Amino acid sequence: MTVISEIDPEFSPQITVVKVGGSAGINYDLVCDDIAALVRKGEKIVLVHGGSDETNRVSTALGHPPQVLTSPQGYTSRFTDTETLDIFCMVYAGKMNTRIVERLQKRGTNAVGLSGVDGRLLQGPRKSSVRSVVNGKQVLVRDDYTGKVETVNDSLLHLLLAAGYTPVISPPAISTEGEAINVDGDRASAMIARALGARQLVILSNVPGLLRTFPDESTLIRQLKFTNLDEALGFAEGRMKKKVLGASEALMGGVEQVIFGDARVAGCVSACMQGQGTVITR
Ligand code: ADP
Repeated sequence: MTVISEIDPEFSPQITVVKVGGSAGINYDLVCDDIAALVRKGEKIVLVHGGSDETNRVSTALGHPPQVLTSPQGYTSRFTDTETLDIFCMVYAGKMNTRIVERLQKRGTNAVGLSGVDGRLLQGPRKSSVRSVVNGKQVLVRDDYTGKVETVNDSLLHLLLAAGYTPVISPPAISTEGEAINVDGDRASAMIARALGARQLVILSNVPGLLRTFPDESTLIRQLKFTNLDEALGFAEGRMKKKVLGASEALMGGVEQVIFGDARVAGCVSACMQGQGTVITR
C-alpha cells in the first residue's frame, strides 16, 4: 500500500458562514456553483440568504406595497405587519430558500433548508415598539413583527454539518414568545458565525464590497481595520449600514475576518475566502 498523505483524526475543517443578499443583480447560480465546488473539496459552509427584492415585488403584486421604517440613527428596516410577515415567509422561507436548496441539490450538494423558526434556530426578543422618523417627527410603531437574533441553536447546525449536510438558512427568526419575526439577515449571519466559532464571514451583495464613494466601484476599500464603527459607518449609506453593523458584531464575537464581496461574479465565495473584496479585521 502506498500512503499518499496521512489523515489527521483531529482534522476538523473551519466553518465558513456565507451570507448572500436579496438585492437585484445577485447571481444565485454562480454563488451555488462555487459553494458546491467548495463543499466537494471538504469545506464546511453554512449559507444564509436574503430576499428583499423579491419580497418587494411580490408585496406590490399582492396589493400590499413595502413600507420602510427609518430609525433616528438612519438605519432602515421593512415595516412588518401580519400581512407583510405572511408575504415575507412565502418569499424567504418558501420560494427563495427552496430554490437555493434546489440549485445546490442539482450541483450535488446535500443542502437542507431551514428558517430561523425551525428548531428555534434563530431566537431573540420581538421589539415591543419601533422608533421611527416620519416626516421629520419621531413616532412609535407598535404593530411591527421585528426583532433581533440573540441566540443561535448551534448544536442543530453542528449536527447537520457533521452528517454532511449544508444548511441553508433564511429569516424569519422566532421570538422568545414563539412568534415569527423579521430580522436583519446580515446581523443574523453575524450571530451564526459567532455561535459556530467561524473564522470567516463572507457577506455577498450586488457591489464589489464597501466603496469609499458609493456607487463608484473604483473606490473599493480592500482592507479595513475595524477599530472604529463610526469611521466605517461613515462610508456606508442606506442598507450598507446594517452590513457594517453586522461585521462589527461578528468581529467583536471572535470571528477573525468579515469579507464583503460581489455576488454577481463566478467564484465569488472562493475569491472572498482568499482575500478579495473588502476584508475587515479587528
Ligand atoms: P443585500 O440585499 O444584497 O444584502 P443591500 O441592498 O441590503 O444588499 O445592501 C447593499 C447595497 O448597499 C448596495 O446595493 C448599495 O446600493 C448600498 N450601499 C450604500 N453605501 C454603500 C457603500 N459605501 N459601498 C457599497 N454599497 C453601498
